[in-house]
Amino acid sequence: MLAYRHQSRAAGLIPAFKGTPRIAVGGIASECSTYSRIRSRLPDFTTLRGDEIFGAPLSQPLHRYDVDFMPTLEASAPPGGPVDRATYEALKAEYLERLHKLLPLDGVYLAMHGALSVDGMEDAEGDWYAATRSVVGPDCLLSAYYDLHGNLSRRIVDTLDAFTAYRTAPHVDRIENVMRATDMLTHCLRYGIRPGIVWASIPVLLPGEQSSTEWEPGRRLWSDLSEYNRLPGILDVSQLVGYVWADEPRAAASVVVTGTNLDEQKRIAAELAQRYWDSRHEFHFGAPAGTIEECLARAMKSKTHPVVISDSGDNPGGGGNSDQTFFLQALLKAGAKDVLLGGMTDRAATDACYKAGVGAVLPLSIGATLDPLMCKPVHVTATVRHLTSVARPEDGEAVVTFDGITATLSARRRLYHAAEAFRDIGLEPTRFKIVVLKCGYLNPTMKPLANPALMALSPGAIDQDIVHIANHRRRPTWPWVADLAYTPDPYVSARIRHD
Ligand SMILES: [Zn+2]
Repeated sequence: MLAYRHQSRAAGLIPAFKGTPRIAVGGIASECSTYSRIRSRLPDFTTLRGDEIFGAPLSQPLHRYDVDFMPTLEASAPPGGPVDRATYEALKAEYLERLHKLLPLDGVYLAMHGALSVDGMEDAEGDWYAATRSVVGPDCLLSAYYDLHGNLSRRIVDTLDAFTAYRTAPHVDRIENVMRATDMLTHCLRYGIRPGIVWASIPVLLPGEQSSTEWEPGRRLWSDLSEYNRLPGILDVSQLVGYVWADEPRAAASVVVTGTNLDEQKRIAAELAQRYWDSRHEFHFGAPAGTIEECLARAMKSKTHPVVISDSGDNPGGGGNSDQTFFLQALLKAGAKDVLLGGMTDRAATDACYKAGVGAVLPLSIGATLDPLMCKPVHVTATVRHLTSVARPEDGEAVVTFDGITATLSARRRLYHAAEAFRDIGLEPTRFKIVVLKCGYLNPTMKPLANPALMALSPGAIDQDIVHIANHRRRPTWPWVADLAYTPDPYVSARIRHD
């Protein structure tokens, strides 16, 4: 790669940087349901400082450039509830202090998500960018990447210079996303280009599980963004579903076009926003959906196995609590047997299993510890079948059996979505008649095993039956306003607007 780069430069294809640009790296990322009573605090964040950032898998593309990226702080927390205010302020203060020490800067590469919610704060990402801008000054280029499920605001668009987002759900283009954001930044600095953003907000929100790009209309709507990206004067074309479980004014779908040709950017933003709006009725779940009881009745009658059911409202991968018992209660009530129940978080129950040891039979209270208001715990007499060897109690993981059900218990919220998550603890998902997962659309390793897959629209912090979720602070948005009228009206960033 290095040799090619030098040959290209020798051939005059790539000019050398006039001076080595100074580019800082930093960011904060989480996906926060405002419907969750859980709070993300400092211990929930993985915070990479200084050179630790360059060891992260998503930072590997940074090593490809002949630019010394300069690390600040990257903080990320798993999806959950809003971030506690003091936690956010502490992370921001440290980030800004590190950023300040790197001045002067030509660019900042921001690794973000876009669905951050902070207690008592509106538009948390907008706050982070505005604080960044206040440190680096007006001439520095800010380039950010987002998840597909992120929300934008005028303040965000008015503060950034370049923007990109995932083009796949499930998100399999994470590395490409990093490269789009860093390519734009290094390209613009090398050639002295000042890019700008045009944004079309689309008043449509979808349950996350309908936003897959593996089936229509998502497959079609995202498939040709790279074609638009090739048009002259266009640096990036992104289209975002938005994050529905943030009851805040900025929550909406978006088209964001970064470039240097304002008329073309506006044309593309309007065209894609209209196309998305016109397709809104086509979005649907990727598996037959129903209530917990409907899915369970169908699973118990099924002649093929395993029936894999998503307990979608309690999926920690999208901000769910992962400790709700609605599905477990239904399994016990229906007398379902030969069931694998994956992903129940309960620190006290897990600790009790470690104390008792493998083979012990003990009374257990399961679930409803993180949010005791949402549901009630379930009391069973369980046998401990497996305990994972861990260094810290907070990583504890147990397998227990009771009443024909095999359940995983974990001390902290974690994903049991991939088939390997079960095989690692001695459980083979295909040996069960019914597999219940706290997830949404199935992981690529679980999907081929499902025979069939069902989507339970269970209650929770990320209730997929979105028409019924509380809706106090949103702007008029489809589907809550069924007869909403919409004409795209692309907004031009104040960074490039001349009025
Ligand atoms: Zn996402």
